[in-house]
Amino acid sequence: MQYFMPTKIIEEKNVVVNHAQTIASYGKRALIVTGKQSASLTGALSDIKTAFEITGTEYVLFDQVQENPPVETIALGAEIGEACDFVVGIGGGSPIDAAKAIAVLIKAGGMDPYEALFEHKLLPALPVIAIPTTSGTGTETTPYAIITNHKLRTKLNFSSKVFPELALMDVSYFLHMPKEVRNNTCVDALTHLIESYMNTNANYYSDAACEEGFRLWGRVKLSLKESSTKEENMIIFMRASSIAGIAISQTGTSLPHGMGYPLTYEHGMAHGKANGVFMYAYLSACKNQIKVKRILELVGFESLFALGRFLQDLLGTFALTDEEVARYTDSMMSNEAKLKNHPDQVHREDIIRMYRNAMLTL
Ligand code: NAP
Ligand code: ZN
Repeated sequence: MQYFMPTKIIEEKNVVVNHAQTIASYGKRALIVTGKQSASLTGALSDIKTAFEITGTEYVLFDQVQENPPVETIALGAEIGEACDFVVGIGGGSPIDAAKAIAVLIKAGGMDPYEALFEHKLLPALPVIAIPTTSGTGTETTPYAIITNHKLRTKLNFSSKVFPELALMDVSYFLHMPKEVRNNTCVDALTHLIESYMNTNANYYSDAACEEGFRLWGRVKLSLKESSTKEENMIIFMRASSIAGIAISQTGTSLPHGMGYPLTYEHGMAHGKANGVFMYAYLSACKNQIKVKRILELVGFESLFALGRFLQDLLGTFALTDEEVARYTDSMMSNEAKLKNHPDQVHREDIIRMYRNAMLTL
């Protein structure tokens, strides 16, 4: 049994400015990686600029990361940040994952980006600092970076492992997410807890993280029905998301994440929704119903159906053609990394059934 999660988490109000000297200790010149708007809207970008002004650190800004960033964006970021000593990713999973991949590509100096990101195992990276603004991916505590690979027409985890050196958590950055972004990302955190708990690689440490994550998520789940976001609820979702990241950093995710990637790639469905829609069908199919019962107890649902209904109310439904179900099933059946994380034997018909059941109105 093993546990390894080397990221230092600092959680407090004003964390970025308060820890300006620690941030500056990673080098003379930083690359800041963000999406188009949210880093400014949340105040996180202006906080990091203040931290760099206080410490006299030079920086370059790359603010062009779109959702589900493709290799081509990573290559552009690496070009812009070529002369930097460390990378700061601010935002949801997309910019922070991009920051990790850019940190690898800069260090790989001139290597072909597809080769560096998907073929070479464990390339070294520049230090990465993660400043999350969504409560879903937990990427601040995982070594993963999910990058869109247009050559393979899907999303893939890169082949290196980059834990951020620092995760700087300030709940103020999480308070103004539109309801849909908030709900999709909070559901993503729940799916991480579930897929880690039901995982082949689950162990004492990952399960302990999951069980606390379930309790936290369950305590504030009803607040997802409200349009406004209260700070006391969001701080709990923020912790549930990071602790879910800690759990999947040990186990990985499994079938729902693999089945959801084509919904995002081909239908533009938000990542959290693309996994969340499978939870009822997936948990119904899991052989270990003792653990499923334990999840329901900890999250506070009286039945699996109640959990399914709750998620469907939040996320809505979706529809696929028979051709899509068949094609996505083939893709899932060739995804060995995700299949091996699921402890039961999986046949093609099981995946087809899960896609079909996930489309039913509960
Ligand atoms: P995201 O794709 O980073 O962002 C979604 C949207 O939310 C964007 O429009 C973004 O705006 C906006 N946004 C972000 N923070 C906001 C805030 N505080 N207020 C208002 N709007 C905000 O969403 P995500 O769900 O966090 O990340 C999804 C990505 O992470 C996917 O690529 C997924 O595969 C990956 N992922 C990674 C891991 C991992 O361990 N590495 C785990 C799970 C998922 P801007 O574009 O302006 O920033
Ligand atoms: Zn996820």
